Amino acid sequence: MDKDTQKDKNKIKSVKRMKEIMTNYYIEAKTASQTGKKVAWITSGGPVEPLIAMDVIPVYPENHGAMIGASKMGNDLCEKAAVMGYSSDLCSYARSDISCATVNGGPIGGLPRPDMLVCCNNICGTVLKWYEIQARYFEVPLFILDTPFCHTDYRQEVKRYVRRQIDEYILFLEGVCGRKLDFDRLREVGRLSVEGQRLWQAVLDTTAHRPAPMSAFDAFFHLALIVTLRGTQIAVDYYRSLLSEMEARIASGIGAVENEQYRLLWDNLPVWYKTKWLSDKFASKGACLVADTYTSAWCGSLKYMDENNFLESMAEGYTRIYLNIGVDQMVKQVVEMIDKYQADGLVMHSNRSCKPYSFGQYDIQKMVQQERRIPSLMIEADMVDDQYFAESQIDTRIDAFMEMIRENHKRRESVNMSGKK
Ligand code: SF4
Repeated sequence: MDKDTQKDKNKIKSVKRMKEIMTNYYIEAKTASQTGKKVAWITSGGPVEPLIAMDVIPVYPENHGAMIGASKMGNDLCEKAAVMGYSSDLCSYARSDISCATVNGGPIGGLPRPDMLVCCNNICGTVLKWYEIQARYFEVPLFILDTPFCHTDYRQEVKRYVRRQIDEYILFLEGVCGRKLDFDRLREVGRLSVEGQRLWQAVLDTTAHRPAPMSAFDAFFHLALIVTLRGTQIAVDYYRSLLSEMEARIASGIGAVENEQYRLLWDNLPVWYKTKWLSDKFASKGACLVADTYTSAWCGSLKYMDENNFLESMAEGYTRIYLNIGVDQMVKQVVEMIDKYQADGLVMHSNRSCKPYSFGQYDIQKMVQQERRIPSLMIEADMVDDQYFAESQIDTRIDAFMEMIRENHKRRESVNMSGKK
């Protein structure tokens, strides 16, 4: 079998199904005004389950932002946002979404017009202003769910405060939709949401195997359903079949990277317009990015979610997410991931757009270095706006980093060998 045929054979088959599901999802959302369904724009970490239970189609401007970045249309939309008066220091998801709405641009000709907006600030403060702007632009109601920052613990008053807002959220939805929420349906949606998250975690866990059957770059792609269709049977069925495919790849010894030698952990959002370049670059060095803190954020709160008591537990689950915890907690999670996936190094994307993800990274880098003594690399870029990606500089830095990984690996192997003598 020649190299190209082998490469095709090793491609992940579920990609095709995923593309079909996402196409259908956007067709349904874009034709909602003809089918009489309502559309809500919601932040990526927002509690979507009440929307699904109310038969409202949730649409995610951040997922759309990722599509804009991946299709390399971000620069143009960010420039339009600059002309509208938005500073280039603002989040590029927000900038591209705000300008896109005025021209129906981007890869799918803009998002469907929303009937309401739901904003949860568990990911950042940017979304508050972003959603206010869009609520004014579309002249639709906006609900804001305020989740206090949890530096170390989750206090009872925070629990009560967020839980009360969930009731207000339901009243808001009932008001906009003009009908009552079916709580039995919400329980079912909650069960499906937890099941989908569990399956997503199980898919991500398969990369603890050597060689990893998929990479973080694959995870960036397959993440779309746990974001957009969380709480549906479609997401559950999809992740069950993706998990079977990963298990079959493990059984056949198929790895995401040919001859995987080094395993790396990625931190922060993907550089959407450069995923292929970065994936090829690391693969050419025998390195597989086996896990990342970004995609695992959509199952990281599972420990707080109770499928048998979803309504009560969702307040905690949606408050204690990766971007809403302190640096010490983040370090703990990163170190746990390094151990779980046996990572040889850490690659951090210092993302100009995403301040809450990027501000603590230098501290995290230092603390992880102290705890696990593995090399780390900081790549300065932006997830959508490609003017901040200096390719030749990053190329050189990856070469130097991989040299350190190789040396470190050799040293550890010789220590292991001498221990066996
Ligand atoms: S600042 Fe970060 S968390 Fe907030 S919307 Fe932008 S990318 Fe998402």
